[in-house]
Amino acid sequence: MPVNIQAYQALGRELGEDVTLVAVSKTRPAAEIKELYDSGHRDFGENYVQELVAKQAELPADIHWHFIGHLQSNKVKQIAAFVHLIHGVDSLNLLREINKQASRNNRVISVLLQMHIAREETKFGLDEDELEKILHADSILAELKNIFVAGLMGMASFTSNQEEVSREFEWLSSLLKKYSSLQLPNLHLQTLSMGMSNDYLLAVKAGSNMVRIGSLIFGERS
Ligand SMILES: *Cc1c(COP(=O)(O)O)cnc(C)c1O
Repeated sequence: MPVNIQAYQALGRELGEDVTLVAVSKTRPAAEIKELYDSGHRDFGENYVQELVAKQAELPADIHWHFIGHLQSNKVKQIAAFVHLIHGVDSLNLLREINKQASRNNRVISVLLQMHIAREETKFGLDEDELEKILHADSILAELKNIFVAGLMGMASFTSNQEEVSREFEWLSSLLKKYSSLQLPNLHLQTLSMGMSNDYLLAVKAGSNMVRIGSLIFGERS
């Protein structure tokens, strides 16, 4: 299936300049990413480390690669040299490992903390208490000089109940607002990554400024 450039352009107009569109290219071949790149797009999202590493080697160096999946600590080193933003960070241990690998690469890696906003039980994401612990662990965070915590990320429940989805997005948005005035040398929560193909409109309405969209642009994944 070819890249749907028309849908991509319509999204761009709809989202405007204040919302970053991350084109989620997982499972799609490098040639399709290149096609979108050639039309001017630079932000791409992947959620498997091996796949990301292979594509990064093959594609232009000025692509902003977003890692949006669940990142295992032992795989951080494979992407530390080039990753632009890691969306799914949900533990201090992972923050420590990202900091270590960033330091080895003489760079600062930006991350988003993943919050558990869905009603569904999933292993991933922090609750507010855990977030507070990370934010108030000034001493620990302060030592992690090679990370920058730029914001929050979340995934809404997989449901057709739009009110439910909106409520979850609103909650995450209010959480970002609550902590956005907190400024540490390596933390300032300003980016709100929420919204996918089927719920990005609700997400933007609730205050998202970064959406992660795959199937609307690349077609349904098999
Ligand atoms: C796959 C994926 C997306 C994109 O999903 P679509 O429904 O194809 O837009 C967004 N975020 C995450 C974390 C994903 O894994």
